[in-house]
Amino acid sequence: MHDTTPLRAFIGRHERLFVLTGAGCSTNSGIPDYRDAEGRWKRAQPMTFQAFMGSHPARQRYWARSLVGWRSFGKVRPNGAHAALARLETMGRSELLLTQNVDRLHQAAGSSRVVDLHGRLDRVRCMGCGWETPREAMQEALVRENGAWAGLGAAQAPDGDAELEGVDFSAFVVPPCAACGGVLKPDVVFFGEGVPRARVDAAFEALGRADAVLVVGSSLMVYSGFRFVQAAARAGKPVAAVNLGRTRADDVLALKVEQPCAEALAFLL
Ligand SMILES: [Zn+2]
Repeated sequence: MHDTTPLRAFIGRHERLFVLTGAGCSTNSGIPDYRDAEGRWKRAQPMTFQAFMGSHPARQRYWARSLVGWRSFGKVRPNGAHAALARLETMGRSELLLTQNVDRLHQAAGSSRVVDLHGRLDRVRCMGCGWETPREAMQEALVRENGAWAGLGAAQAPDGDAELEGVDFSAFVVPPCAACGGVLKPDVVFFGEGVPRARVDAAFEALGRADAVLVVGSSLMVYSGFRFVQAAARAGKPVAAVNLGRTRADDVLALKVEQPCAEALAFLL
């Protein structure tokens, strides 16, 4: 049995929290994460932006796996961790919730002061003309063009991907943009791709107003999230983290709680 007193006290002491969440927040919803307790990759590195944009076979492989993965990913529901953080916002204690997750589960749980640092998987965007369409509509197009793939089963991988291996992807049809025929890409930041400047600026502004940082379910191995903790530490703002296993910021943490997120935050509900 973990003692929740130190975390309660931390949240009680700081009125304007900058909350930063990662994959560990969504694992209870059945979405696998990328890294083990030591912060190492559990599986092959995900697709890079350069590979996706530069190669049609890479896009065939991506969308074929995504077609299969979306069937379960599209149905996930928020868990207790999302509910607890939505409650924190209702209590007026959350300056901003910055999430590295692309699953929109914080919004589904009722949080509205949210910045999706790495974008959102429920939307698809044309890299040529900027045309946007819901991922659900893309799924219908994918299934229409690739009927035989719709019945395939495979284990779920992070970010709506599926572990589809040893398959010939060369016949897979990737629907182009309906407006200009360009390349469609999920509206998420791929590895090797920069986070849009406006999003980063909005997050830093909120961090400036915050009096402390609460990290929930992230090992902070990706620099795009880690830099906010670095900035907080430089500004003398205390940082607490709820995470199973090591984080990249362990040496600057004022408090570390090694417990599943939903369990550690249950006292908020
Ligand atoms: Zn287009």
